[in-house]
Amino acid sequence: MKRKLTILVIGIFTLIALSAVYTAGWLKGLAGQKTALVKEAQAAGGKVTSATGTAPDRYVYYPGTEKLAKDEVRVIACGTGMPDQRRGQASACFLFEFGNGEKLIFDLGTGAMRNISSLMIPYQYLTKVFLSHLHTDHWGGLSSLWAGGWTAGRPVPLEVWGPSGQTPEMGTKYAVEHFLKANNWDYQTRAFKITPVPGQIKVHEFDYKGENAVVYQENGITVRSWPAIHAGDGPVSFAIEYAGLKMVFSGDTTPNKWFVKYARDADFVIHEVFPPPEIWVAWGNQPPQLGWRACCEFHTSGQSFGKVMSEIKPRHAVGYHFFNEEATRYVIYDSIRETYDGPLSMATDMMMWNITKDKIIERMAVAPDKSWAVPGTMRQPPPEKGRKPVMSEFIKSGEWGPAFNAQNKVLDEHSKKYNLQDQDWRKQKPWYKPTK
Ligand SMILES: [Zn+2]
Ligand SMILES: [Zn+2]
Repeated sequence: MKRKLTILVIGIFTLIALSAVYTAGWLKGLAGQKTALVKEAQAAGGKVTSATGTAPDRYVYYPGTEKLAKDEVRVIACGTGMPDQRRGQASACFLFEFGNGEKLIFDLGTGAMRNISSLMIPYQYLTKVFLSHLHTDHWGGLSSLWAGGWTAGRPVPLEVWGPSGQTPEMGTKYAVEHFLKANNWDYQTRAFKITPVPGQIKVHEFDYKGENAVVYQENGITVRSWPAIHAGDGPVSFAIEYAGLKMVFSGDTTPNKWFVKYARDADFVIHEVFPPPEIWVAWGNQPPQLGWRACCEFHTSGQSFGKVMSEIKPRHAVGYHFFNEEATRYVIYDSIRETYDGPLSMATDMMMWNITKDKIIERMAVAPDKSWAVPGTMRQPPPEKGRKPVMSEFIKSGEWGPAFNAQNKVLDEHSKKYNLQDQDWRKQKPWYKPTK
């Protein structure tokens, strides 16, 4: 009897000991096990804890309401589409805002300024533009920043960084010089009426053959470039380094050895991705022979995009440069997933990311359709004294006085309110009849 009891006690203890060992091992295993990787980009946000409570985090970004941390970068997709225009998606553009206050625009495609202006950033801070190449879907929006920013109060010139070409006529310096020549009438008239300085553009052209070469280094930000392969010599991809973070913007490129080498291990990689050949035939109005080259010879297909990402292993990948809608998004997504299973955003306009060492969050910026420019701290200088008018006496002589004089009441009130009596432009007009 006593012996049976001893055996039972030993048995129970053995069982407890074994269970303890098992439990410890199980717990250890759990602790070491990483949370399953979130493959798709996830919105921010959390649980609402009461019926009268508010959502603890926003699922959206309301421009102008969030201060960046010192070591944080906010990237906003100001254009993700194609050269052919659509109202809901502008051509290529990514705005990088840094925790130290710097703002750099990477590509400024046609239509992109509508998105940028909705962010209500004073134009004095939107002066630095980096161009990956000179296709208009990557710089066609420069005219809107140049002239629109000027009329909206930008007090200073613009600066443009861009690659050289095989010959001087294929480079950024030539392009901007001739942009200003083509827009000479616009320049001369605004320079006279407003003030000339904001109409200037300083060009920093760099060698497109530079490999991981520094093209900009200011305020703790380094921008590097390396050659991209796309349509001809000249295009480049950029790496942007700040606060120990490395972010990459491909511009337009086919898969290439430089990208795989220099974008490796980046935190955040924006790379172009195109739909498969059949989409170009069915939706893109292209003959079959062009369709399968557009996606896969001058640009990067989903499978190729995925292959590149699996090789360079970024913390987060972003695909852009396609009409993003139901008909295309999942086809491209599935083609990427054939070769890449890491974190991924399928970019559309106003998608945005907060990037820090700890996390990368994707959200949508929700901005008004009809915003005015927001003033900053600087004011534009007054019109340039002694600048030659660009309107002849012949044209001026056509002004019809009665309609001009019909506005005298409102102009008199304005003049009184702002003390403009000594600047009254009406006094030189032959038609002027002051209100008694
Ligand atoms: Zn291009
Ligand atoms: Zn493009």
